[in-house]
Amino acid sequence: MKKDIHPKYFPTTISCACGNVIEIGSTRKDIKIEICSRCHPFYTGKQKLVDSAGRIERFRKKYANLQSDANANG
Ligand SMILES: [Zn+2]
Repeated sequence: MKKDIHPKYFPTTISCACGNVIEIGSTRKDIKIEICSRCHPFYTGKQKLVDSAGRIERFRKKYANLQSDANANG
């Protein structure tokens, strides 16, 4: 192996926005990412559901009323 032709390779960390820190070896230092294998929905299997002001609940009640009305008429 020739000397001094390789970039410096040292242990460093990747910091994710979710707080997860991954230790790797890299030529770069203090890498920051916004999503990682721990917090990505594809891996967690969870989807963030934002129900602002109970809109989904209201919709369900409305839909339930429509169904019961249809049953009463039929
Ligand atoms: Zn993450």
